Amino acid sequence: MKKSIWAAALLTLSLASCQENETETIKIGYLPITHALPALTAAALQEEGDSPRIELVKFGSWTDLSDALNTGRIDGASVLVELAMKSREIGIGLKAVALGHTDGNVVIVAPGINSASDLRGKSFAIPHRQSSHYLLLNQVLGDAGLSVDDINIVELAPPDMPYALSSEQIAGYCVAEPFGAKAVDAGIGKVLFESAELWDHSLCCVLVLNEKYIEQHHKAAHEFVEAYKEAGEYIDSHREEVFELTREQLNIDKTVYDLSLRWISFDDLAIGRAYYDDLTRRVSEAGLSDTPPTYEEFIAPDLY
Ligand code: ZN
Repeated sequence: MKKSIWAAALLTLSLASCQENETETIKIGYLPITHALPALTAAALQEEGDSPRIELVKFGSWTDLSDALNTGRIDGASVLVELAMKSREIGIGLKAVALGHTDGNVVIVAPGINSASDLRGKSFAIPHRQSSHYLLLNQVLGDAGLSVDDINIVELAPPDMPYALSSEQIAGYCVAEPFGAKAVDAGIGKVLFESAELWDHSLCCVLVLNEKYIEQHHKAAHEFVEAYKEAGEYIDSHREEVFELTREQLNIDKTVYDLSLRWISFDDLAIGRAYYDDLTRRVSEAGLSDTPPTYEEFIAPDLY
């Protein structure tokens, strides 16, 4: 009898310590891309004793990251906005609290491709159908009088794209940075368009948090988003420092980092209603969703 009371007390103690730990740590998923710099920088700038402690969880593909997010294995992530919108649409409790960046995508093509029309009949890679890369591709083709039916779209993990281009398996790709910069730096591809030429203030990655986490750890969620916001503001004026701070996660050459950052903006990470409404219109027109979540359903602007 005594033994079982003792065991129960120990169990209670260890559960309490687990719960205490949970309130102090926030698990944030990311892909090693320069689009995730605010999350990576926030983690790098945290100091001993800061709460919540940001624990970064690395993923190799958007599908793996999305699965972890949707099953609650991580508390939040820097993720493609369309992918998170789709999760929200099927009932996953995610809230977008800030942008990962604005602009910052390029359409990369093989040296022999000189216009969008040259892509007709060729293979073109995007990381996932639910992405701004697919929306940008739609626009590029539409402007040239073509549609996605005129090319062969393949979904590849971002790090596989430069090799697929150099080995002529694909004629071009559009994906999160630094993979566009990698192709340019290596001399295997060139920029056909920058996203800013195609879509003003385009959205791409967002910071999402699990709705339950926000409800159960509101103070920690708020403090994490505050650290994220400060990190975003820090990046533009401290690019050299940020390169060193995130070197371990990104593992890229400085020339690739510098080129990549020429295309990306981090100065305004608030999710404005007009920009979100523009995104939902594009998502609907491209056939990615019939009922994308409304601003009220999906965005939590009060945390930023
Ligand atoms: Zn992005």
